[in-house]
This record gives sequence, C-alpha cells and structure tokens, in this order.
Amino acid sequence: MDQIIEQIKDPQTKMMAQLMAKQQKERTESQPPETKKLNAPYPPAEKMRADIQELIRMNKALIQEFKVFKEQHEQLKKLNATVASALGACECWGNPLCPICHGEGKPGNLEVHPVAFNRFAEPLFQKLIQQTALVEEK
Ligand SMILES: [Zn+2]
Repeated sequence: MDQIIEQIKDPQTKMMAQLMAKQQKERTESQPPETKKLNAPYPPAEKMRADIQELIRMNKALIQEFKVFKEQHEQLKKLNATVASALGACECWGNPLCPICHGEGKPGNLEVHPVAFNRFAEPLFQKLIQQTALVEEK
C-alpha cells in the first residue's frame, strides 16, 4: 500500500491517500482480535489503485470547478463595484461593519462615477422620462 501511495505525484491526493491508509490501519488495529481475523487489513491492491485513480480524477475535477468559481467570483466583485459606483454607493451598499464607509455607503451617499452611471443608471432614467412623458400626453 505504501508503495502505491509513494507513486502518487499530486501532493494533495498523496496526503488524502496516506490519511485513508492510516485511518484504515487504525480501524483494523482497534478491532477485537477475533474480528481482525475475519477482515483482511487492506482491499486488493488493484481495488486500492482504482480508488486512488478515482480520487485523483475527483481532485482534478474539484480543482477545475474551484478555478471556475473563483473566476466568476472575481467577475461578480468587479460588477458589484461598478454598479455601486454608478449609484454613488460603497461596494458594501452601506453595511455598518464596512471598514471603508462604516455603514455610510448607501446609494447616493458617495461620489457617482459618471461612466458607470451612464452605463447602468442613465438608461433607466431615460426610460422613466419617456414613460412619464407618455402619461402626461394622455
Ligand atoms: Zn462600505
């Protein structure tokens, strides 16, 4: 078993395999002697190899998923900051625990970023102005 684990190159996967082997060894040793005789200490090497390959595959998939989530998180943080600046708000939207604005960063309380305003807020105002004009014409 140790020889198989030694062949694993990825440090995280290797650590997980070592932990699993240690836990299995502890379980086997903590069993009463009569139970020990009934259970083989380890599954066949081929099964262990297949399990490790599956763990490696799962680890790679999780790392890939994490990278995607991290990138999406960064994009959402940037979008939040842009929309907040468009409305003259802090990125926390006025959270009292914010170390930057101490809760004073609600929309309209900070300087409005004109480019962000034109992108996110101005179209809404244009639409509202048109709707108001249509109502007044009637
Ligand atoms: Zn804030």
